[in-house]
Amino acid sequence: MEEKPTLSIVVPVYNEEENVRPLFEKIQAVCEAIGEAYEVLFVDDGSHDKTFAVLSELGKQEPQLVVIRFEKNAGQTAAMAAGFEFARGERIVSMDGDLQNDPIDIPRLLEKLDEGYDLVCGWRKERQDKFLTRRVPSIIANWIIGKVTGVPIHDNGCSLKAYRASIIKQVPLYGEMHRFIPAMSTVVGARIAEIVVSHHPRRFGKSKYGLGRIWRVMLDIIAFKFIISVFTSSAEPRNSKNLWHRFSDVLFNPKQRAFRTAAVLSLPFFVLGRILFGAATVAALSCLVLAIALLVLGGLTENKIQQANQTSSVSGRLAHFFIFGCKRRPIRFLGLIGMMSLLLGGLLFIFQMNAFLLGALRSIGPNLSPIFITVGILVFCVGLFGELIAFANAKHVKDYAVETILSANNEGACSE
Ligand code: UDP
Ligand code: MG
Repeated sequence: MEEKPTLSIVVPVYNEEENVRPLFEKIQAVCEAIGEAYEVLFVDDGSHDKTFAVLSELGKQEPQLVVIRFEKNAGQTAAMAAGFEFARGERIVSMDGDLQNDPIDIPRLLEKLDEGYDLVCGWRKERQDKFLTRRVPSIIANWIIGKVTGVPIHDNGCSLKAYRASIIKQVPLYGEMHRFIPAMSTVVGARIAEIVVSHHPRRFGKSKYGLGRIWRVMLDIIAFKFIISVFTSSAEPRNSKNLWHRFSDVLFNPKQRAFRTAAVLSLPFFVLGRILFGAATVAALSCLVLAIALLVLGGLTENKIQQANQTSSVSGRLAHFFIFGCKRRPIRFLGLIGMMSLLLGGLLFIFQMNAFLLGALRSIGPNLSPIFITVGILVFCVGLFGELIAFANAKHVKDYAVETILSANNEGACSE
């Protein structure tokens, strides 16, 4: 019987046929030198090239190699999450599968981890990527992420990291949120350190991301804020007498059902408003109604994706093809239009409501300040905005589907 590994190396790979063999050999050399029982988990994220063939061939000779193959491409975050889930070691190291990270740095990461940290991040100080399209956006993004999350790491995007398994296995990973692992880890109380690591230019294969990543990372930063608020409040109502607890349970429940209900309930309210306020508010109201319609539509499409993953019906497959097949782009697009109309509608609406509410309130007695009313309406708009972001971005990565696991412990192959 093989010894249980205490060290697990996790490598997500998508179309990296030329890289996987040399990378495995480098990792193997480093781990042999460390001298403890280890395993190397390659997660094939639905590659279309020979990546899986090369890995299966390699697995026949290398008992330390575990190959997890997804049915279809689910993204780097999902691939990393699967690796963390299947890893058996107490210490886990993740790295890119394109030879840009160097396994040589693994012992230093582990040494730092053993100084009493739960997460050690690599910092590609001498990053070997294009300056204008890759390094500059990354510097700005890391600065913003540091400010927003309060966890100032130089290089969130560096995949080369070492983790204490007990910690990383608790960290919820969403959408494309592998870039937020340091900040997410602080939610479960992780102690974080950072060391400079080496970085090489890509020699084989192509980068999987273009400039579109800038927009996605921006959305992720906003989504992160909302997710954090969901996770730092309890999932189940606390039945607490504390008023604030009750309020935040309703407001931040995991599916943000409260926001959705508010959006739907407000529809008749807006229709009424249209009759009461007259033509001047048509623009505001139609923006808001459009926004709400988009919210509902976004929700429906999100459901469609889940159905498509389970069903073999024609409509399910069509949805699969049009929506999932193009990586949720329509939802992001809906999200963008919805967000813009919400902002616009919200502003116009505040303007109208202030005048109307002030008049109405004065006639029945209390003299509330316009600021009070504005803040109330703003909070409502922020709720809708949060709901939208949640729709557009926060899809739990646990939706990945494992097709095959090849591992010496499973006597060759096991299919699910
Ligand atoms: N990757 C993946 N699934 C994807 C995209 C990327 O598993 O959908 C892997 C990819 O094979 C590589 C790592 O994630 O091992 C980082 O990707 P890439 O090198 O393209 O990113 P970059 O270095 O350009 O930021
Ligand atoms: Mg790369």
